[in-house]
Formats: sequence, structure tokens, C-alpha cells
Amino acid sequence: MKRAVVLLSGGMDSAVTLAIAREQGFACHAISVAYGQRHVSELQAAARVAAMLGAAEHKIVDVDLRGIGGSALTADIEVPLHDRVHPADEIPVTYVPARNTIMLSIALGWAEVLGADDIWCGVNAVDYSGYPDCRPEFIAAFGKLANVATKAGTQGHVMRVHAPLIALSKADIVREGVRLGVDFSATVSCYRADAQGRACGQCDACALRAQGFVDADVKDPTRYVRAALVRPARGT
Ligand code: ZN
Repeated sequence: MKRAVVLLSGGMDSAVTLAIAREQGFACHAISVAYGQRHVSELQAAARVAAMLGAAEHKIVDVDLRGIGGSALTADIEVPLHDRVHPADEIPVTYVPARNTIMLSIALGWAEVLGADDIWCGVNAVDYSGYPDCRPEFIAAFGKLANVATKAGTQGHVMRVHAPLIALSKADIVREGVRLGVDFSATVSCYRADAQGRACGQCDACALRAQGFVDADVKDPTRYVRAALVRPARGT
């Protein structure tokens, strides 16, 4: 089996990504970064997901981004509630500066160590919060970097960065997860999850996720402290 490194956050998108990589025949070496996120319940969810979806192993690496701060997820800045809508052209305060660059770099380093040419991540550019490092141009640029930055790249390996969800809606991601047998109740997407991993139902991540289940016409198994507000299905 070919090896791949899969970035796993504990949320639904990276869980579906792991399931897709497995389906494509990779032995998946899952990695999560403890970057100082507000709640360890995300990392506990990542460990559950890795075990549930048959990852070859799961590693948690510490890179504490609270050292540089600058985000509602890593500094003493309030996570905004979804009803306080930010302008569409503004990047929300939940953006973590350079997070995906840092995480993909760690995944790339581990891929070299493992002799893996493939890295998978669950970034999505459709139903997302507008983060610059979730866009296709970022993934393409990182793919180029991966090949000039590494010993493996100079020795004829072609390093590939896979982002299979990048053009999918949240509803499509839910459907894909259902098809692949992902148990979404094991995942935590909320920015304000409590210690038990229960979702707040009020942040941007909760709103996007809850709407995805409604639009996919799939029962939402998320454990909420307070039910997320959703619109009628978009009929996607
Ligand atoms: Zn939430």
C-alpha cells in the first residue's frame, strides 16, 4: 500500500478526506497539530476519527501558535457568533495566521520521513469562512513549493497535495461522508466546543455544518449545547 499523510483536525471535513484517501488505497498516516486551539475536544475527536476510519497511525504534534496569537482561536479574542455577520469581503477573526501553511509544512516534513509522496487535507473553498489558505490557488502554490522544498522532490519524487473537498458544498461533503460510512457524531467542528466536545450551535463553523446536514437531507448527529439555526434546505 502506498503511504499518505492526512491532516486531521477532528472536524467533519478532514474526516471525510481521510475516508476518501483510504478508499483510494492509501495507508493513511494521520497527523493533528496541537496549535493552542481553545479546546482539546478537537484533538480527542481527531484520535477517535483516526481509529474509526482505519488510519495506519495517528500523531499529534505540538506547535503552539498562541506564541504569535492574532486569532480568536489562539488569543484572547472573542469568537464571534454567527448572527453577527461579518462583511463578505472581510476575513473573520477566527482566521489563524498562516495556519494551513504551517500544518501542511509539518505534513510535508513527515511525508519525507515516511517516504510518502501524497499529502491530503480537507480544505474547502465553497461553504467556508473566507480564509485565504483554503483557496485552490493556495493548494496549487503549496504543491509547487513541496517539490522544490524537499530532498524527495529533488530526487525525482513528485509530491502531491490532495484537497478533494475544495470545490464541494457542505451538503456534498455530508453526502460523501455518508457514502463512505463516516460517523459524524465523532467529529467536532465548533470553534467554541465545550470540554465534552458539544457544539455551541452559534458560531460560524456550527452554522455552516448544520446547514450542510439540512441541505443534504441527512439527520444531524452533532451534540449541541444549543441547536444551531438553519434555513430551509437549499435543494442542492
Ligand atoms: Zn459552534
